[in-house]
Amino acid sequence: MPENGPFRLPITILTACAAILLALVAIKVIRKVVRDRRRAKIRANSPRLAALRSLNSQFEFHPELSRVFVRDLDSKRQYDRFDPLECLLGMFIESPDEFEGWLLDAEENESLLSEYEVGLQDIPRHSYQKVSWAMMEDELFEEELLRPETEPTVTIEWRYTSPAGRRRYLDEEVFSFDEVRGLLRESRKIAKGRSTRQAQIRRERALMSDSLRYDVLRRDNFTCQICGSSAKDGVRLEVDHIVPVSKGGKTEMGNLQTLCERCNRGKRDKV
Ligand SMILES: [Zn+2]
Repeated sequence: MPENGPFRLPITILTACAAILLALVAIKVIRKVVRDRRRAKIRANSPRLAALRSLNSQFEFHPELSRVFVRDLDSKRQYDRFDPLECLLGMFIESPDEFEGWLLDAEENESLLSEYEVGLQDIPRHSYQKVSWAMMEDELFEEELLRPETEPTVTIEWRYTSPAGRRRYLDEEVFSFDEVRGLLRESRKIAKGRSTRQAQIRRERALMSDSLRYDVLRRDNFTCQICGSSAKDGVRLEVDHIVPVSKGGKTEMGNLQTLCERCNRGKRDKV
């Protein structure tokens, strides 16, 4: 068969290649089977791994603390002007308790981790003489070792997709744990100052008593200190803080004056 002649050699080579390939695959499969069985054996019998598992069971770390917040924006302009820091501070103000809890979880992870590390030192060394077995044991140990997040990050992602999805814009900023902690403390201080100021305003308003009001009216001869009108002219007289309480004014004779309703309103409109 002369037409077969030229093909004989290539077919032999192909057959040989296929045989080699098959052998390689078989070796790979066998190696994997052997490896898996060895891993299973070590996993089941290694005192080192058993000790690790027993230690692990005593620790409950807070899982997955790093956060990603995504902001979808309505225009390219908003996208260009987006300030991730401002966004983060806004979230602190909106839900301070959530971030407070997040911070505590991370700090708790950190202190638990140092206890865990002390526990790790008591775990027995390699259980196997053979290097390949000892290495596999190490590999399994690494796999089962707990790695809690102690310095989680906060990522702010902002994006904008133009109408019909023609263009997509995406950017992100990652805040480190220390940055977030520092910013959170700072914003807490600001919030605390604000609430102290509000409490002070409430206190000053509460100090305004009927008798004090009367003392001011009497001192001012029951006349408006701006236009001079009095109750005889049919106006309603009010007692006004010269420096408003909201601007730090005190509720005391020196900072109080009699005004008619109209002048008082005029003053308020100016402020
Ligand atoms: Zn008046």
